Amino acid sequence: MPQYKVAIVGAGPAGYFAAQALQNLQTDHLSFAIDMIERLPTPWGLVRSGVAPDHPKIKTVSKVFEKVATAEGFSLYGNVELGTDISIEVLKAKYDAVVIATGSATGKKLGIPGEDLSGSISAAQFVPWYNGHPDFADFNPELNCETAVVIGAGNVAMDVARMLALEPAELDETDTALHAIDVLRKSNIRKVVISARRGPEHAAFTSPELRDLPKLEHTNVLMHPEDIAAGLERAGEEPEKEVRNNLEAMRLISELEQGKHARTMEFQFLCTPKEFRGNGKVEEVVFTTSVGEEKVVKCGLVITAIGYEADPLAGIPYEKGKVLNSDGRVGENIYVVGWAKRGPSGVIGTNKSDAADVMNLLLADMTEPKPAAELTSLITTNKVISQSHWQSINAAEIAAGEPHGKPRVKAVTREELLRLGGLN
Ligand SMILES: Cc1cc2nc3c(=O)[nH]c(=O)nc-3n(C[C@H](O)[C@H](O)[C@H](O)COP(=O)(O)OP(=O)(O)OC[C@H]3O[C@@H](n4cnc5c(N)ncnc54)[C@H](O)[C@@H]3O)c2cc1C
Repeated sequence: MPQYKVAIVGAGPAGYFAAQALQNLQTDHLSFAIDMIERLPTPWGLVRSGVAPDHPKIKTVSKVFEKVATAEGFSLYGNVELGTDISIEVLKAKYDAVVIATGSATGKKLGIPGEDLSGSISAAQFVPWYNGHPDFADFNPELNCETAVVIGAGNVAMDVARMLALEPAELDETDTALHAIDVLRKSNIRKVVISARRGPEHAAFTSPELRDLPKLEHTNVLMHPEDIAAGLERAGEEPEKEVRNNLEAMRLISELEQGKHARTMEFQFLCTPKEFRGNGKVEEVVFTTSVGEEKVVKCGLVITAIGYEADPLAGIPYEKGKVLNSDGRVGENIYVVGWAKRGPSGVIGTNKSDAADVMNLLLADMTEPKPAAELTSLITTNKVISQSHWQSINAAEIAAGEPHGKPRVKAVTREELLRLGGLN
């Protein structure tokens, strides 16, 4: 019976859904040995380091990932980085197929003057910081100003704005990194402006996230009724369902009673950022409005959340922040799935059907299986996190959270994670 050896690089949703698709393609006459390689000591990608901590239900998808990981023929190789601890050439030579599922983690830039001033940061730094990603444990954003501006009109912008604008006590029962809860508690920020370049009818927020906003117990959520009315008019008589649902959710927000709380999250539309100004540090953001006027918002922090791009990996072709591919095929026995393939769009579930389509192509391309590969001997690090090491880390984090009513307390340094895994 042929057994194909597949290396999946990246233990985020796309990697796990690719592994699940391969497991589903197995028959009595065909099987897959799957080695999943992940640069961090922890798996789950953005489900651990991206999804907002105050949305814990979304993270229950990790149960699916753990089921995939404990099925026969699956091995996790955490704390192993493609490009550092192993090369794409070695993987290509030793495996029947290599699936790149490395996501896209670098924040896109606006490319306007003042973007490099202190106080100007990216959601690609702020989000992994509050989520305890080891590479961002020391990031320490300064939250000592009164007003922050978040630039972007998608769910990431909304997450970032909400995390800045909610009452920090609301994070006590979440898995927000403890260092972030400390800093957020001391934050002076009381007003967060989310700024979108286009009108509400074009915003990429999704309606479940919008409908959650009025549930914030300690924050005024401000949308101007005239902005939403104008958006409804521009959307015409029969807007698409998603646009209709979004505008309806925004209309409800715009009708909320205002002014009760010390903290406010305010949406502004049709404002294009032109420049960040300040003396060594951001003091204001200058926008151009849809009628060509200048609008200035005074602030001490600006966070851009305008999308992500992938950092190129050696030996893999990239174009416009994505792996160059044709329906997921990259080159001989190399495939790509998830955000590395499509760019930063779609929810977690989008990666499932996408990965299944690519794995069907992978199977169609298979010929004679290669002899078994022993990955451990090919890797240049001896601190490899296996599934059972990861299970020890997972159990320790969950146990640490229990007395505090938290789903987990995350370990945030590689050393601590390796120690919890039993490797240090
Ligand atoms: C801030 C934020 C919030 C989000 N919130 C939601 C939400 O609430 N609901 C929802 O449905 N979707 C949400 N999403 C979208 C969702 O997270 C993505 O659709 C999904 O994570 C993409 O999966 P992926 O596997 O392609 O990438 P990722 O999740 O980024 O996984 C990629 C993995 O590859 C690893 N990797 C990278 N380079 C290497 C290398 N060289 N060697 C080995 N491993 C490597 C990374 O460490 C990572 O673990 C959110 C996204 C962001 C950014």
